[in-house]
Amino acid sequence: MNGDYIKINSMKFATKAIHAGQEPDPTTGAIMTPIYQTSTYWQASPGDNKGFEYSRGTNPTRKALEDCLAALENAKYGLAFSSGMGATDAVMKLLQPGDEVITGDDLYGGSYRIFTKIFANYGIKFHFISFADPENVRKYINENTKLIWVETPTNPTMRIVDVKAVGKIAKEKNVKLVVDNTFASPYLQNPIDLGADIVMHSVTKYIGGHSDVVMGALMLNDEELYKKLWFIYNACGATPGPMDSFLVLRGIKTLHLRMKAHCENGRKVAEFLKDHPRVAKIYWPGFDDAPGHLVAKKQMRDFGGMISITLKDATLEDTFKIASSFKVFSLAESLGGVESLINHPATMTHGSIPKEVREKVGVVDSLLRLSVGVEDIDDLLEDLKQALA
Ligand SMILES: *Cc1c(COP(=O)(O)O)cnc(C)c1O
Repeated sequence: MNGDYIKINSMKFATKAIHAGQEPDPTTGAIMTPIYQTSTYWQASPGDNKGFEYSRGTNPTRKALEDCLAALENAKYGLAFSSGMGATDAVMKLLQPGDEVITGDDLYGGSYRIFTKIFANYGIKFHFISFADPENVRKYINENTKLIWVETPTNPTMRIVDVKAVGKIAKEKNVKLVVDNTFASPYLQNPIDLGADIVMHSVTKYIGGHSDVVMGALMLNDEELYKKLWFIYNACGATPGPMDSFLVLRGIKTLHLRMKAHCENGRKVAEFLKDHPRVAKIYWPGFDDAPGHLVAKKQMRDFGGMISITLKDATLEDTFKIASSFKVFSLAESLGGVESLINHPATMTHGSIPKEVREKVGVVDSLLRLSVGVEDIDDLLEDLKQALA
């Protein structure tokens, strides 16, 4: 890191999104970081290299991306993984059999799956709890508790966790707090500033932003923890290639512009759906009467473009029919891209959660989740109008 780079890190978000980690290429002056499509690096004599040995562990394009990702979360260190789940997997490998994890009762389906179907088999115990009252966490902390893993806003019911309050308890009890910040993106929320130890992202979503890359990331400040995670990252090998790293670096340059547009369109779609006769319930943290609104207002810059609704008196069949009748919104898994997507959590993103478990937290058959894109708002509202007619 040179002096210029450190200066960039103390600048505002939009400047960091465009410049952090990236300097003109020393050999050619290329403004864009080259795609270093190489698996290995020349050494003058064994060990005499320029800091790069083998691309599973280190690659210059990925390094530029990781420095940029760290800067976006006001963190010292960034690690990119070949998927969000790869990043989650690395965090869980910090644990030993007998360790306990406290996590939310309405998690992303894939997180629930890796906890219950993979790591539970390795002797790690998970408590799935409500964070509506942060003090609730205390009841589950014991001498084996090593990690608190929260998502906020949650997927798909947009519940809000007070990161500052949970972070305070975690620090007091010497437990690490990890925040899955995928739904907010670093533009809307910076959990490390609120007391989290590690921020996790599915970069596939808002950070990448163009639905063309699957990637994950961890950002953190603690050097010792970073070294442990880097060891796992290199030893286990779920690291992304240079081409994907380049695509994400390119995507990040408009993160702030995209997020502003997602929030603006999201607000208009939420307001349109709120009083719609076909809508029974709406989940969006921007409404004054939404649970967690005050905390969201305090810890987020805006409320984002993710909205969920339940349909009034709709069977699974009715819900499928509506989900399939959109013309601008595409029925698809994933979120956070420039294009609008609609998803049926019960059978798609959250299909791996047993029915009785998901229904308890509101993931019912009539629930639809919208990822509001940055198309023209008139066309989005028109599409919702005709699909819900
Ligand atoms: C998509 C997603 C993940 C998993 O990330 P992948 O990149 O799909 O592996 C984790 N958490 C949340 C909140 C997500 O939306």
